[in-house]
Order: sequence, then structure tokens, then C-alpha cells
Amino acid sequence: MKGKELIGNLEQTFSQLYGGKADGIFFAPGRVNLIGEHTDYNGGHVFPCALTIGSYAAARKREDRMIRFASMNIRSEVTEISLDDPALHLDGSGTREDLALGANDWTNYPKGVIWAFAKAGDRLPSGFDVLYYGNIPAGSGLSSSASLEVLTGLMLRELFAFPKVSGVDLAIRGQQAENIYVGMNCGIMDQFASAMGKEANAIFLDTNTLEYTYAPLLLKDAKIVVTNSKVKHQLASSDYNTRRSECEKALSILQAAEKSGKEIPSLGSLTPEEFEARKSAIDDPVLLRRAMHAVCENARTIEAVDALKSGDIHRFGELMNASHDSLQYDYEVSCPEIDVLVEEGRKISGVIGTRITGGGFGGCTVSIVRTDAVEPFCERLGKIYKEKYGLDAEFYVVDAGEGAHRIS
Ligand code: ADP
Ligand code: MG
Repeated sequence: MKGKELIGNLEQTFSQLYGGKADGIFFAPGRVNLIGEHTDYNGGHVFPCALTIGSYAAARKREDRMIRFASMNIRSEVTEISLDDPALHLDGSGTREDLALGANDWTNYPKGVIWAFAKAGDRLPSGFDVLYYGNIPAGSGLSSSASLEVLTGLMLRELFAFPKVSGVDLAIRGQQAENIYVGMNCGIMDQFASAMGKEANAIFLDTNTLEYTYAPLLLKDAKIVVTNSKVKHQLASSDYNTRRSECEKALSILQAAEKSGKEIPSLGSLTPEEFEARKSAIDDPVLLRRAMHAVCENARTIEAVDALKSGDIHRFGELMNASHDSLQYDYEVSCPEIDVLVEEGRKISGVIGTRITGGGFGGCTVSIVRTDAVEPFCERLGKIYKEKYGLDAEFYVVDAGEGAHRIS
């Protein structure tokens, strides 16, 4: 479903479920990261763009303190909770363990955002009814979770008039919801891209300072193609959290060994040369490889944005390829299916660069492909993948879209 049909359907289903009309319709996009993977929780740079697909919500304020959640993607009844229910922990009580209200309960994402608003002092004066619908392929690593969080924040800001809540606040509160409430230790990238995306641009974000600039995606005669492997390996979120703690360990070893008095606030604060001069302090070869990825990926991202700005799309592609190799061998967040998509993709003429994108362990690749090669790319790679794994990879030629906004 797209555009008007999608919104019509959402409004109609809202009326059937709750009666009457919604106060507003809201949208927050998913994202694809072009380069700068697993750098966002290491104080490095990222370079994502928002997509034109994402999550929609129809919502209406209530007079009482009930909240009702429903999603057209989840075939279940409406979930109800009172704003006064202690399980929402709006008084700030509760530990990380008892905050998550139940594993795999999708309403933890919007509940987490209500919790993050309360934590920031923006308490809801009443409840609301909301119906969600998302058109991001499920579990594909294009960040449906961040779009759901940012969307919920936008909806709360608009329904309850919290004018001081900025787009960056929506990103931060979404990340808090996911970190604390869902227990996924993600960085800020996904929520930032969803909240702050700009049509036809990617966002060059310093995750240490949250300073950002927009870079026009001047790809000349090339397109961004996202390939969905349709696999998501089980350990995705626990391995993600493990990578994060491995990087924290490597950082604390470097900090403890530092003799020069230089501050090392994050792995992303080191250049590859500075890291090279210090890396002998890390004995564990696994930690060394993790840290190496974080440092070098950050440097690649900075260089890639310069390359794009100066029109050198081929250098940009080379850096994407190097990013994948580092994620495959040093950071070890790829998987055989994705590696086949990347290796075979690179053999196709007109492919400028291709790499895994997102948290890893499945999901999608992102490729820059010459416009005249897009068709053979999808066809040939789809065929090879089907022969090897029996799966139908999906291909999306994507445009950079606008960040979260109110539709009506
Ligand atoms: P992604 O890479 O898409 O962010 P995640 O596993 O992080 O993958 O998040 C997917 C989860 O987000 C789903 O399992 C579901 O709980 C929740 N979610 C996302 N979009 C919706 C939606 N429209 N309706 C209900 N739940 C959703
Ligand atoms: Mg997610």
C-alpha cells in the first residue's frame, strides 16, 4: 500500500476500531545507512538517509487516562493500559530488567517513548487511542523499530502540544526507549535519521556531539539499491549488545594505558594513526579487531562524505566495499547469505560499491549501482541467491526521503 490508499485504509480501520475520526495522521521513515556501521555507539560518524517507506499512525486524544494501542501489522486485539499503571514506570522507578513488560511485545516501543517523555518532564495530561501501520519489510534491518519510536514521539508532541520537543529530542527519546525499555543497546543513528532526514540528502552525523550536516546525494547516473536477504539470524540483538561491550572494553584498556595525558573519550575520537600507535596495549586479538573496525570505519566515513561531495563516486564505492570487508572479518557481524550477496554483487559490471547495512546478522545490503546496470544487477543476483539459498531476495531502488512529519 502506498500514499492516499494507505492513509485512507488507516483512517477507515481507525474508525472501525475506535469509532469517529483521528485527530491527526503522522509519519516517520525507516533508514538505510550508506557507510559508518557500528560507529554510532563508538562516538564516530555515520552517513544514513531516511527512506520514503516507514511507519504511519492515526491518533486521537482521550478525556480519560486510558491508552489504547493497535497495529495493522499485528493481527491482535487492542492493547490497553492506564497512564497510572505502575507497569509503565512513569514515576521513574524500576530497573532495566523489570522495565520491559514482556519480551516480544511490540507495545514496549511506544510505551518506552511515553516513559522517555515522562523522564524528560513531559508528562501526558490524558490518554489516547492510536493505530499504527508500517510498510518497512519486517526484520530487514531498515529500522522499523526506530521509525515506530520516532513516530510515537512526534504523535505525542503534536497531540499534547509539547512545542519545545525538537526533532533531535525525538531521536534521543526514541533511542532511550529502545535502550532502556526494550533492552537493545543501539546507538543514535537510526532514530536520528528517522527524525531528521531530508529529501534527496544523506545526513553526516557526528554521534559524539550530535553535530550534523546534510549532504546532497549527487549520484549522477547511479542509484542506491537495497537488497533484502530475507534472513535474520536469531542472535542479532544479543550479539549486537556483545559488540558494544567489546568496544567498551577495548576503549577502557586504551584509556588505562594512555601515558601522554591525551583524553580518549571514545574509539571514534582516534584517527587510525593514533590507534596504530596505541594498539599494542590490547592483548586480546578479538578486542583488537573490534576496536580496529570502530576506528577505521569512522575514518572511512569521513573520507566517503568528502568523496561524495567532490563527485568521486568511485572512491565512495571503494570505501563501501572496505566497510563490508571490515564488518565481515574484523567486526564479524555479517553472515554467509549477506556475504554471497556482496561477493556476487561485486562481480556484476556497473556495481560501484556494495556492503551490509544495519545492525548485521542478516537484513539488507546497500549498493550503489549504475542506472543502466540496476536491472541486470537485480536479475542476476536474485538468480544466484535463489540457486544458493532457495530464497527470493527483494530489491528496492530507494530515494532519500523526508524525516518524521505530520501528514494531517
Ligand atoms: P528493524 O530492523 O526493522 O528495526 P527490529 O527487530 O529492531 O527490526 O524491530 C522490529 C520490531 O519493531 C517488530 O518486531 C515489532 O515489535 C516492532 N514494530 C515495528 N513496526 C511495527 C508496526 N508497524 N506495528 C507493530 N510493531 C512494529
Ligand atoms: Mg531496530
